[in-house]
Amino acid sequence: MSMSSDISNDFLKSDTQTPFDTCLVCHKNVIDSGEDYFIERIMRKVPEFGIKETLFEYAMCMDCAGNMKGEMSKDSMERIETFFKERVMSIDPFERLENPLEKCLLTGKAIDDSLEFSYHAHCRGNQMIESIFPYAVSDEAMDQISELLSKETLDELDDFKGKYFNGPPEIAELINPKRLLPI
Ligand SMILES: [Zn+2]
Repeated sequence: MSMSSDISNDFLKSDTQTPFDTCLVCHKNVIDSGEDYFIERIMRKVPEFGIKETLFEYAMCMDCAGNMKGEMSKDSMERIETFFKERVMSIDPFERLENPLEKCLLTGKAIDDSLEFSYHAHCRGNQMIESIFPYAVSDEAMDQISELLSKETLDELDDFKGKYFNGPPEIAELINPKRLLPI
């Protein structure tokens, strides 16, 4: 049994403040389908202006997330899964933060101190499933993870970005493909 809650503002579309309803890859309506899906937001801090800005955000259905994982090199995915499990198991479950997006799930680094970070949610319909989700990943954790990726995997992530990101080129340049790793 899992707990769920309404989708928080942190996981609404940043431009319209409305829920994500379409899978980035297959365009399925993720809310109507009643199936599980993920929301990911890749953000950066702009210290000069004291703001946080979204670089890329999307929903992805479980099938497409599974396919994407399947396309990544097996070695990279195994190393990442091991890294992820080790870190998550070292977390004290009683220390669950009131706002889990304040700290990096994998390193504990404060997200406020991260120049680049991402938010991840697991949803069903108009609800967020509460497990290790929702969580945030800091720039520090991403650097550690990137050391585990093969050149092949980085190329695959770069292709994914080229295929699905259709915002302005100056933003595209800011998106590190490592961030698109299905974790
Ligand atoms: Zn899909």
